[in-house]
Amino acid sequence: MRTVIEIDGLFDGTSAMSDATIVIEDGEIAWAGKRSRAPKTPKGEKSRTVRAAGGFAVPGLINCHSHLTLEGSANFEAETRQSEAAAALKAFRNARLTLRSGVTTVRDLGANGSMVVELARHIERGALEGPRIIAAARGITITGGHGMEVGRIADGADAVRAATREQIAVGAMVIKLFSTGGVLGEGAGPELAAYTPDETRAAVDEAHRAGVRITTHAHGAEGMRIAAECGIDSIEHATLLDQPTIRLIKEKDVALVPTFSALRRIIDNGSALPARVMERARLVATKHQEGIRSAHKAGVRIAAGTDAGYAVQHARALRARARLPRRGRTLSDRGARRGDAGGR
Ligand SMILES: [Zn+2]
Repeated sequence: MRTVIEIDGLFDGTSAMSDATIVIEDGEIAWAGKRSRAPKTPKGEKSRTVRAAGGFAVPGLINCHSHLTLEGSANFEAETRQSEAAAALKAFRNARLTLRSGVTTVRDLGANGSMVVELARHIERGALEGPRIIAAARGITITGGHGMEVGRIADGADAVRAATREQIAVGAMVIKLFSTGGVLGEGAGPELAAYTPDETRAAVDEAHRAGVRITTHAHGAEGMRIAAECGIDSIEHATLLDQPTIRLIKEKDVALVPTFSALRRIIDNGSALPARVMERARLVATKHQEGIRSAHKAGVRIAAGTDAGYAVQHARALRARARLPRRGRTLSDRGARRGDAGGR
């Protein structure tokens, strides 16, 4: 049985079009494109046509940076003290919300245990509703470092190696490191380079040996440079980029995940947050857009991530895409314009 869905607009991953058709066979998309080019139903085969007037379809979106165990409440510090059981329940609820907002793959970059790895397995088996999840289990950070509230603290190359092995042993599909301090929480500030080259290399070697990618949280340029030199696969936030760092990131083919929406939310929420947090947020926000724009111009790969759960609520995930700088906005821009033209 084939189902033919006629929609007003479609973005197929490369271009946007009006008057489109999606053909579904045996529960899978068999064809999508301009209606005039849609394949005819072979003689003798049953077909049913569904007219979705005013509808606009896009491929499943990918959110490369999320924290499913956190709600994104204003009181971040209180939320990080939650039990593993509470975190597991929130993770299920937020995963379902994520899928229902159009995101079909999400990376979970740090939780207070291995509950998101378990959730990913349940979703994969079809036991629970949710997107495909690539979970890091616990993020690895220095004593006094950013993320220490929920992370796995490790100092020295041997300890970092052990911490990386621990996450892989519980089923982590990506490793999350904290190469610099950050904005929220009691840990060190954004400019501090946390891990040394020796420690970073130990984590990278161990992750790659197990066949998983490794990404790192980094604001300050020095931390980003150490991570890039040591073979990190991607950098989260990347707020304080300068030209030498951009050149190195490009040369080492490191991808960036800017997470603009988290900073915007922190600044918008100013009155509810400690003065220390606001000072840090303003410091990193001033250079962020400009740095990412230069990196994009230099040909650095840039992926979308919202940091949902950390200052941003999960239901806001999609709105955050519109905050990518102008040149990176092809998908959501064209989609929105087509949607207006095609329907209402
Ligand atoms: Zn994060």
